[in-house]
Amino acid sequence: MLATKLPAWEIKQESDIERIFNEQCDRAGVDFFDFYLLHSIEDGNNYDTYVKYDCFRWGVEKKKEGKIKHFGFSFHGSPELLEEILDAHPEVEFVQIQLNYLDRTNPVVRSEMLYNILSKRGIPIIVMEPVRGGMLANMAPEIEAKFKAERPNDSVASWALRFVASLPGVMTVLSGMSNEAQILDNIKTFTDFEPVSDKGMAIIDEVTAEILSIPQIGCTACKYCTPGCPMHISIPDVFRTINTLRRYPDDWRSKNFYRGLTGRSGKASDCIACGQCEGVCPQHLPIIDLMKEAAEILDK
Ligand code: SF4
Ligand code: SF4
Repeated sequence: MLATKLPAWEIKQESDIERIFNEQCDRAGVDFFDFYLLHSIEDGNNYDTYVKYDCFRWGVEKKKEGKIKHFGFSFHGSPELLEEILDAHPEVEFVQIQLNYLDRTNPVVRSEMLYNILSKRGIPIIVMEPVRGGMLANMAPEIEAKFKAERPNDSVASWALRFVASLPGVMTVLSGMSNEAQILDNIKTFTDFEPVSDKGMAIIDEVTAEILSIPQIGCTACKYCTPGCPMHISIPDVFRTINTLRRYPDDWRSKNFYRGLTGRSGKASDCIACGQCEGVCPQHLPIIDLMKEAAEILDK
């Protein structure tokens, strides 16, 4: 099975779509792709391009020509945008989303909501980031011990893969593999596949709860603090980023979010400790110290 994607950022005119597709066929040495995706739709990114150049209609035409067997898109956006796209494009056959046990309630990814939308509509799901960029393969020893006590011969990564593969509606699980040992481990996981039992799900829930218990900054995003900040720091957005990174230290989406944010407003490291914000914060947050933490994590 071969899959590839149409990158919106390379489409400058309509003829680029066909050119890109033909180049992809040439490079792969094939006449058709089994799965073809509009790449990386997210809020404010790429969807407009796919609509502008009528790429959904193009995908359907390519299917009729037999050049694409199954047509869908990969998605990094909000549940609201997902609903909007699915309403507008019932021709979509599958959707690829980020899904893993830790991101179920991640306020940025909101993968449980995305999963529920797709399940309700009966749309097959391709899962990306099941091991969260490797994070769910390398746990603290006390967490690893919980998994090992239940299945001593299984890797920690296999739990993450088995979790998503056990969910109804999941068609395919994609896992980045960077060495032969990981390939062999993944093959072992999916050979004579065993769905996660109720007891196993309880262990996963326990591990999830443990990670989610890492303290969060109690900012309510009231924004009382922002108008008076002389450095124009979007304080609640910085805290939102830090809250996610405290739990998910390698979360690239939060880092991208912060990069975009600081293109428009001040960085955490710009804080001059004037104290204006602390004087107005109804939650009495130690904003100056928290900005130091944020600067350490985000601006170095
Ligand atoms: S202490 Fe820092 S974050 Fe708070 S208002 Fe002053 S410069 Fe802005
Ligand atoms: S005033 Fe306090 S609670 Fe409100 S947005 Fe600013 S930091 Fe958050």
